[in-house]
Amino acid sequence: MSDFDYDLFVIGGGSGGVRAARVAAGETGAKVALAEEDRYGGTCVIRGCVPKKLMVFASEYAHAPAEARAYGWDIPDGTFNWSDFRGKLEAELDRLEGVYRKLLAGSGVETFDARARLKDAHTVELSTGEVKTAKHILIATGGRPVRPDLPNAHLGMVSDDIFHLDALPKSVLIIGGGYIACEFACILNGLGVEVTQYYRGAQILRGFDEEARGLIAESMKQRGIDLHVGTDIVEMHRATGTDEDGMTAPVEVDQYGAHPEDGPGNGPIRVKATNGNTRVFDAVFFATGRKPNSDDLGLEELGIETGRNGQITVDGYSQTKVPSVYAIGDVTDRVNLTPVAIREGMAFVETVFKGNPTEVDHELIPSAVFTQPELGTVGLTEEQARDQEQIEVYCSSFRPMQTAFAERPDRVLMKLIVSKATRKVLGCHIVAPGAGELIQLAGIAVKMGATKEDFDRTVAVHPTMSEEIVTMRNPVRSA
Ligand code: FAD
Repeated sequence: MSDFDYDLFVIGGGSGGVRAARVAAGETGAKVALAEEDRYGGTCVIRGCVPKKLMVFASEYAHAPAEARAYGWDIPDGTFNWSDFRGKLEAELDRLEGVYRKLLAGSGVETFDARARLKDAHTVELSTGEVKTAKHILIATGGRPVRPDLPNAHLGMVSDDIFHLDALPKSVLIIGGGYIACEFACILNGLGVEVTQYYRGAQILRGFDEEARGLIAESMKQRGIDLHVGTDIVEMHRATGTDEDGMTAPVEVDQYGAHPEDGPGNGPIRVKATNGNTRVFDAVFFATGRKPNSDDLGLEELGIETGRNGQITVDGYSQTKVPSVYAIGDVTDRVNLTPVAIREGMAFVETVFKGNPTEVDHELIPSAVFTQPELGTVGLTEEQARDQEQIEVYCSSFRPMQTAFAERPDRVLMKLIVSKATRKVLGCHIVAPGAGELIQLAGIAVKMGATKEDFDRTVAVHPTMSEEIVTMRNPVRSA
């Protein structure tokens, strides 16, 4: 008989925590509890991947009537109804949260709708006042969006807010150049919002292949997104009334330049940028970064180390400096993606409850950016690969049949980075509609160590866009 209330106490009911709790309880018979302070499903289900992808789907219909007309259909342009969509979205998220709760209950996990913090290496204190002990504690508390340190930054929204808007703004300024900024620029553009985007770096989507970044930036501009790189926000104020330049003038404000009752989405905002321009937007959306949820968890008192951004330091088995305490997912800031948090949760259960020490493999993780067009990527970028060894680059950029017929200017890109020495495909980058779907499959070949000749031996599927990936005969350059 164990001296503890549970074998495992999980803090956080998001992607990683729910999977670890379910598998530990369901497959090993461990006595498991989980505390969630907000909604079950976490970032991915409630305010990340799922609602975002549904918004991507909604926004992609913007071009459908014009394209259908080009194919001979007699279809008028439509209008998008945000409140109808939001109602359906909320109902879907409620349904999914219910599924998560049911899965936990069905696996025998006891759940607490409460905030939790560590009291000692085996004890968890809940916001309800209850205190529980466990042989192992798993921290899976995820992360949250952060606003920049700028006066009046609270007037701007972050990604959590976007799903709850009462109405879509007429115009929005998006600050940031990462995948969340670019995805929402495309989504809101598709839904009919006038989108301006400022990013302080030289090109959007830092860390991805440069050619792919360039093509996406061009496509975004072509679709009407007013993208300014090398540009950041200097000042922002709530704006009401009109001043002598015809600009809306700042409202009466407190000593910080903000109206005390103000929040995101309450009216126009006047923004001064580093390029000298001052413009007024209905809303400002900060997609400027995320922070791990490691505050007030009792980590310092226990001697659990955190990094500069607050991420919990763990070893390859997700174990912290305190042997009974593990951490997985975004709170460890390794690779912040849902399938990775899930993998880390499964590896934790293998290690701790199945007697099979398993490190998570963070190499060659395929991923997608759901811009329009999408980016699918796996492995090294051209820039990373050429710093490492001699490479050949195979690349094809063309207008796909479906949209070319409709006289749309869209281009797609298929690119392979190949090792000269081993012939292995080190990286694959696809910019195309549905690239997220394509890269999942290419990712298997790359993960298996396929060579360029393996790609060449594969017969094309015709007529498709992706056949280019097996028909590129000559390198466009060597480096
Ligand atoms: P989370 O899912 O964040 O779950 C943590 C949970 O812990 C939360 O429910 C939180 O309420 C709870 N919690 C926090 N502190 C406590 C506490 N003290 N006590 C109790 N509960 C607590 N990933 C992809 O793979 N593909 C995508 O397309 C994608 N799109 C995204 C879009 C957006 C806008 C965002 C923000 C993220 C996106 N992600 C995407 C990332 C993905 O959502 C995360 O990587 C994933 O959710 C991490 O899972 P997690 O279990 O670590 O944390």
